Amino acid sequence: MTGRPIIGVLALQGAVDLHRPHIEAAGAQFKAVKTPKDFEVVDAFILPGGESTTMLKLIERFSLWDSLAENFAAKPVWGICAGSILMAEKVLNPAQKSFALLPITVQRNAYGTQKQSHTAQIDGYDVSFIRAPVIQDVDPSVEVLARHNGDPVWVKKGQYMATTFHPELTLDFPSPMHKAFVEMI
Ligand code: GLN
Repeated sequence: MTGRPIIGVLALQGAVDLHRPHIEAAGAQFKAVKTPKDFEVVDAFILPGGESTTMLKLIERFSLWDSLAENFAAKPVWGICAGSILMAEKVLNPAQKSFALLPITVQRNAYGTQKQSHTAQIDGYDVSFIRAPVIQDVDPSVEVLARHNGDPVWVKKGQYMATTFHPELTLDFPSPMHKAFVEMI
């Protein structure tokens, strides 16, 4: 794509604005999105970290499901933590609805409570696991870009990418994950 692509960060709940400096440093434009009209004008989406159950409720309340699904079918999507849960084909602990963009199985809150949240280095970059899911199973068609304690934590298939960790909390712009996502667009 030529010019600076517009990345829409779904702004219903969760860590939205922290993506702006990373996106801009990676050469793209940031836009917080929450209406079908917003969704139409962006080139790619970030589903941010936060609380997937709350996001699902808000998606239902504002009748955004169909418009999001249509846009996701045509554009790159990166799901972070709660966002990766919304992208997984299968969600456990408990089972919940998802857009099923990536053939992976995730177990929610598998590292434990808020207290077990921790930071780690992925590709030499500090990232945060905050009540993160564990990717328990990946289809062979899914590329595993990074692992942590043996589990896949950064995966990609076609136009879809997911990380179970947050890279946007680190103030060193852009993160390698934002860079990789902008390169996919
Ligand atoms: N535990 C949250 C969920 O299940 C995800 C946490 C996060 O996005 N940091 O949705």
